Amino acid sequence: AKKYVLINYFVNQPKPTDLKLVEEELPPLQDEEYLVEAEYFSVDPYMRLYVLNFPLGTTMIGGQVAKIIESKNPTFPVGKRIVGYLGWRTHTIISPNIDNSFAQQKPYLLPDIGDLPSSLSLGVLGMPGNTAYFGLLEICKPKSGETIVISGAAGAVGSHVGQIAKILGLNVIGICGSDEKCKWLVEEMGFDFAINYKTMPVAARLREVAPQGVDCYFDNVGGDISGIVMYQMNLFGRVAVCGSISSYDADTSSLPKCAILQPALVTNQLKMEGFIVRRWLDRWNEGVIQNLQWIREGKLRYRETVTKGFENMFDAFIGMLHGDNTGKAIVQA
Ligand code: NDP
Repeated sequence: AKKYVLINYFVNQPKPTDLKLVEEELPPLQDEEYLVEAEYFSVDPYMRLYVLNFPLGTTMIGGQVAKIIESKNPTFPVGKRIVGYLGWRTHTIISPNIDNSFAQQKPYLLPDIGDLPSSLSLGVLGMPGNTAYFGLLEICKPKSGETIVISGAAGAVGSHVGQIAKILGLNVIGICGSDEKCKWLVEEMGFDFAINYKTMPVAARLREVAPQGVDCYFDNVGGDISGIVMYQMNLFGRVAVCGSISSYDADTSSLPKCAILQPALVTNQLKMEGFIVRRWLDRWNEGVIQNLQWIREGKLRYRETVTKGFENMFDAFIGMLHGDNTGKAIVQA
């Protein structure tokens, strides 16, 4: 068995030497335990931040889809697959009494998704999919005919949010980091417009494509982009603050540049709310079932950017933070 342990806390951009790949010997199974082998790993932005809450020597955190290869627990028989926050490790012994306080979600058997790939349980049918579903519906409370802007639009969460917004009849504008991603959003994901924040003047372009103003903003990136969008919002607009990836590598030794948002909030009486998807853990299956239904109906599409090989975990992780991925970033073991 192999795993990555954290040997240095990330400072600014994570470095390969912050993690160490080590071999580990696993003990024999005890009653009720089962052994899984990882098939797919998720690399997600939250890992950049949350791992800083753990002591050095911790196994790098993260979710995976894994196959049960040995079992002393009849509820988890050999051959079934589970989804769990087991970290960056190839093999894991799971005890049903495991307390995973980080994610507050115990490993669970993969739901029946027919012939769809099991990796979708890390994306469109898993945590990012439910982030899109609950974050959009519960925080933005979108209405047909309204205009929504989504930042980080070509990623796992963003591309999903835009498609649900289209299903609900909104005018959908995405902001992302390449022309290729913009093209994909408009031509394949059904977005009405996409803005490349690296090459286009976002404020001017947004005024052109949304002269009617913005009613909902689903924010994955924070920073200057968010300041620009919020100053083009309409009366009683809603902002779902999902993430702030533009600041995750920020140099904390210098003061952060902060847009002054209060005038926008006050003048247009906006509502801005942060959320973490585990708020809806008790409704988890509702999100998965609805997203699965939309996929089956051909209304929800997905793309995965798959890196092969456990030894390439770090490259996939840093690549995702830099925008190499379109849709969900996955590592195949
Ligand atoms: P993505 O698949 O969107 O991957 C991250 C993307 O962020 C990259 O592809 C890159 O795309 C973009 N990015 C990187 N740096 C910047 C920057 N400086 N400015 C703008 N965009 C940048 O990841 P996820 O879909 O998994 O996550 C999206 C966001 O949602 C993250 O902020 C994450 O932390 C958050 N999140 C929050 C959850 C919650 O419960 N609140 C749950 C899950 C995710 P590009 O080429 O466009 O720059």
